[in-house]
Amino acid sequence: MILFKHSKDLQSYLNNPKHKKVITGFVPTMGALHEGHLSLIAESLLKTDITVCSIFVNPIQFNNIDDFKKYPLTIEKDILLLEESGCDILFMPYENEIYPDAASKIKHFELGYLERILEGKYRPGHFQGVCLVVEKLLTIINPSVLFLGQKDYQQCLVIKKLIGIMNMDIEIIICPILREINGLAMSSRNLRLNDKEKNIASQLYKALKKIKKNLAQDNFSYLKKEAGAQLERSGFKIDYLEMAKSANLEIAEDCNMHEKYIVLIAAFLNDVRLIDNLDVTGQC
Ligand code: AMP
Repeated sequence: MILFKHSKDLQSYLNNPKHKKVITGFVPTMGALHEGHLSLIAESLLKTDITVCSIFVNPIQFNNIDDFKKYPLTIEKDILLLEESGCDILFMPYENEIYPDAASKIKHFELGYLERILEGKYRPGHFQGVCLVVEKLLTIINPSVLFLGQKDYQQCLVIKKLIGIMNMDIEIIICPILREINGLAMSSRNLRLNDKEKNIASQLYKALKKIKKNLAQDNFSYLKKEAGAQLERSGFKIDYLEMAKSANLEIAEDCNMHEKYIVLIAAFLNDVRLIDNLDVTGQC
């Protein structure tokens, strides 16, 4: 694996004439890698010729400074995991490489409805920060295929929109959520949970599965109330628990057999914010 810290070096490597016809796959991450991240790398290795992974903890996308300060950093372990995975290139830029000056941090992306709901509503400015860094990374790497995790489903739709705004020709492949044995969606933030909390945190997925199972006989608002009350009794503070159309995340009270739906949740367990989602298409 080749490690690049400067975008110019990475670009001259990728633009080398011998890489002209090569299909480049890109997996952007914020590090503290786990099997979920590695599943994206594995998918890219299968489907493309060169796999580039980036690690950059983007300060701009944290709407909560404490969350940024506490974001886990495990760089040495990450490099080892990536080496073992067969990843071709790791791009690990310094902050001033991505944001050389104050002006480079200022740009507005027209994300519309997607920015006003769910994560957008509860984390103001978050998706602007995501777009800011992803635009820079895509411009540097110019990949053919971008591998993203369904874990951050709304982010997938935001990045799809960004690629449209940038008028780039990039295929997006959304990879399934990898989970711990107890069902907890793998996440870098899980490193901040102790064993007891990890056990409690697994209830998020159990709640989503229960909603999916019962959607055929009960309406969503009843199931939401029931799940919400149970999760709160277990110590969660829920930001949202919603069902939405998978295509555009339009919030849905009811579902039908003709469209695809997803149930999404975000909740705090103590001071750790967790998100998860489950496809419920065909359950209504
Ligand atoms: P992050 O480092 O959290 O920004 O995540 C980098 C990429 O890995 C994003 O596309 C995430 O959606 C994806 N990802 C995070 N957790 C998982 C998981 N449990 N399973 C699959 N992909 C994941």
